[in-house]
Amino acid sequence: MNYRHAFHAGNFADVVKHTILTRILAYLMRKDAGFRVIDTHAGVGLYDLLGDEAGRTGEWREGIARLMVAKLCSADAELIAPYLAAVNAQNAQGELRYYPGSPFIARHMLRAQDRLMALELHPADAEALKENFAGDIQTRITQLDGWAAMGTHLPPKEKRGLVLVDPPFEIKGEFERMVQALAKAHARWPGGIYAFWYPIKDPKDVSAYVDSLRASGITKILRLELTIRAPSFPPRLHGTGMIVVNPPFVLEGEMRKLLPKLAEVLSDEGRGRYHIEWVRGES
Ligand code: SAM
Repeated sequence: MNYRHAFHAGNFADVVKHTILTRILAYLMRKDAGFRVIDTHAGVGLYDLLGDEAGRTGEWREGIARLMVAKLCSADAELIAPYLAAVNAQNAQGELRYYPGSPFIARHMLRAQDRLMALELHPADAEALKENFAGDIQTRITQLDGWAAMGTHLPPKEKRGLVLVDPPFEIKGEFERMVQALAKAHARWPGGIYAFWYPIKDPKDVSAYVDSLRASGITKILRLELTIRAPSFPPRLHGTGMIVVNPPFVLEGEMRKLLPKLAEVLSDEGRGRYHIEWVRGES
């Protein structure tokens, strides 16, 4: 387990991933009934963009820093507002120093009746995450294998909510593991919303992944992707993807508005592209 999210916090992939996360939560908040967010690969929760790791790569400068100063039309600004509110909540007014990871963003949006369960396997990161949420009775942090938790913690007692799966993709076979984990989780809780993040490096890996999802028998699978440059050889990260199972019915339309703008803001010289596709529809 060498992956450290601190090097990548706030990069273009985080911006897209966390925008989708906030749009799903905004939808769940339309009803008063409580929901649960299960964040299976949570990271440490909060990142210092001027710290050693983020400072070394500076990836956030091409991600969240660009979005913070982007000119958005009022409809886009309204959709992006919950995400930017979660970022701003960690920073002094007008500044960008700290970046909230997925558990902090989710927690920012919870109401009194909602709960967050965050899992992190790396001992030091799990400890840091626990410290970041010390005393918070709406959040449970566990040092546990997020893949295993999907078998044991579903369905949540609220019977409404989101499972966010954001593994580091540092070992081979992660795409196959995603399909197996989704099949297992979906069998236990067919009505849950699932958001599975994936990196776009080699388009062949992504095609095989999508083919396996299509063959899985699971329906209502939405594919959302954004690339910021053309693929290169040897493959390096040039795009970010999210598979959303049982997406809120408004999500496709919202992302059809937001992804073109994010593609423009997060890429150089208009090289950004987006792709939205139903891998499987209702049936
Ligand atoms: N979701 C976070 C966010 O959006 O801010 C970033 C997560 S980062 C991409 C992946 C995290 O998964 C790392 O912190 C890593 O230590 C952790 N991890 C790796 N394998 C894991 C496993 N089997 N179970 C839970 N966490 C794991």
